[in-house]
Amino acid sequence: MNGYFITGTDTDVGKTCVTAALLRAFLDTNQSALAIKPVQSGCIESTHGLRAEDVEAYARFSAPYFPDGYPEACCHKYRPACSPHLAAEMAGETVSVDELADQVRNIAADRDLVLVEGAGGAAVPLGNGQTMLDLMQRLDLPVIIVADNKLGVINHALMTIEMIRGCGLTVAGMVITNTSTPTTDDAHLRQNNVETIAGWGDVPVLADIPYVEGADFDTVFIQHMTSALDILPEFSSQNVDDMDFDRDHIWHPYTSALDPLPTVKVRSTRGTRIVLEDGSELIDGMASWWCAIHGYANPALNKAARSQLGRMSHVMFGGLTHEPAINLCRTLRDMTPDGLDHVFLADSGSVSVEAAIKMALQYMQADGQTERTKLFTVRGGYHGDTCGAMSVCDPDNGMHQLFSGLLPQQIFAPRPACRFGEEYDPASLDEARRIFKANSQKIAAIIVEPIVQGAGGMYFYHPEYLRGLRKLADEHDVLLILDEIATGFGRTGKLFACEWSDVTPDIMCVGKALTGGTMTLAATLATTHVAHTISKNGGVFMHGPTFMGNPLACAVAQASLTILQQKNWKTQVHDIEHWLKESFGSCRTLPGVADVRVLGTIGVVEMDRPVNVQSLQDCFIKRGVWLRPFGKLIYVMPPYIITREETERLGAAVYDAIANNAHI
Ligand SMILES: *Cc1c(COP(=O)(O)O)cnc(C)c1O
Repeated sequence: MNGYFITGTDTDVGKTCVTAALLRAFLDTNQSALAIKPVQSGCIESTHGLRAEDVEAYARFSAPYFPDGYPEACCHKYRPACSPHLAAEMAGETVSVDELADQVRNIAADRDLVLVEGAGGAAVPLGNGQTMLDLMQRLDLPVIIVADNKLGVINHALMTIEMIRGCGLTVAGMVITNTSTPTTDDAHLRQNNVETIAGWGDVPVLADIPYVEGADFDTVFIQHMTSALDILPEFSSQNVDDMDFDRDHIWHPYTSALDPLPTVKVRSTRGTRIVLEDGSELIDGMASWWCAIHGYANPALNKAARSQLGRMSHVMFGGLTHEPAINLCRTLRDMTPDGLDHVFLADSGSVSVEAAIKMALQYMQADGQTERTKLFTVRGGYHGDTCGAMSVCDPDNGMHQLFSGLLPQQIFAPRPACRFGEEYDPASLDEARRIFKANSQKIAAIIVEPIVQGAGGMYFYHPEYLRGLRKLADEHDVLLILDEIATGFGRTGKLFACEWSDVTPDIMCVGKALTGGTMTLAATLATTHVAHTISKNGGVFMHGPTFMGNPLACAVAQASLTILQQKNWKTQVHDIEHWLKESFGSCRTLPGVADVRVLGTIGVVEMDRPVNVQSLQDCFIKRGVWLRPFGKLIYVMPPYIITREETERLGAAVYDAIANNAHI
């Protein structure tokens, strides 16, 4: 949909006549244009139902082009002359921004260009906590602001520009009107208003329409808006060069520089949806690698980011501290299992794992056990892409071959054989115990992902196994590091996956969902015993990233954890688990499917051989969903706000893709 959204700095600023005149100007250039009024309050009762006066103005200005009458261009009409939210409420209705946007798109179909006129100003409420700005965002059109030239207009104009830009929208320009008779006293003021607004920055003044009365009125408006067309910025066309540049010069994760897998260009995101460059929407089943748990563009997270940005985006953490970090660390300490009382703020999951490993080694050094420098882990794990983290990833599907000269050799037990939900077989720990004992003098810590091995294979193992590892660590006085980066914050149905086993680690890593998918941040938490041992005899923990404790990320993380505590994540996750079981269960019977498993909001369809990622991806995009399979796995980890209907659409897309052999 091409066009403009027309809003005002206030109500009664001449917005409708500007819209009508602009419509006429576009029609005069042979474009099939239409002006639309999504919500009209203050309608007049007539024999033909409610009359929308604004639409009548469009009809009057554009009469020669619509000999059979102006098309229906209003979605909601209300009699009371008041704000749309109140008018709708009095009519016993609610206005849904999503529906409204769809209705506008329907009316606009087949037109070259549409002008969508708001009601009142940008912050006018539509009900349900949504405002005209939400509708503007959904329609994603450049915005023209109409301002009445009077005392106070500069303030209103600048506030409106700020608000619109804060939503990621473009301000195409400003139209100044004069709705009252000028006096000799205010001539100077009016002239200065226009100059100030024009000189403020990069918003062009498209027209300065003088006060007019009588017969000339429409003609004057049309003349001014016709001239305005020359100043209006062109619609930016999709740039093919961008995609060529992306392919030729930008590294994307795990793909060839010579023959990269194609990328899909995203325009924006909101809720559970990824909006592509062409305006089509995908239901996000990945939560952007599992982190956007509250969905995208959550108002509370955006607000936290904006207000922190206004105060302080970053300051070094060495020797300085700040409220966002203090608040977040206090929340993390309260939320995580008892005893994890010291918080290290890292800038990514991998870095938090490096910090955890360094803590374990420094702990042993400080304790005089200098020969304890190895890590004990199980196969099938994933802990990140930096060197220390890579060394404890699965040695086969990790990158050990490639980096064998660089990576420290760690000690591996087999993948836990006993699965989640099965009856526990105590023998499943035997081999791990044997390997541990054979190396026990060298081991500083055990590191594992609790219950769910994520990127290493979406594998769920028995809680009793984790309890066994805790016991093993205690018997040999080594530390237990739990990597909760993927599992933390409710993903598995418990706030932290270690709660399935009633196990508390000595060191714990969190990341991914920590900022609700807004920004990069992770944390390594340790017990007081670990922290104090490292620091005895003047020791200090040797890690300090440049962006440690970034205030912006901390403020957003705090907002994300607040939502988690206030919203009923447990109900959300349990509902999703139920829906996933229902909608993915049928895949079990399809040929090529080796296993279907669900835990919390994690749904996995394991195939009997590696899948064709590109072909599946194309198939999913056609079905309006976003999933990124890897290896033999087609899986989902959706935002917690996903609905039943959306979950079913994910399940149906996976079923159809496999049924149509898109995985081969
Ligand atoms: C994603 C992940 C990491 C790495 O986090 P990054 O932020 O990508 O560095 C580490 N451990 C686990 C379990 C993960 O899922």
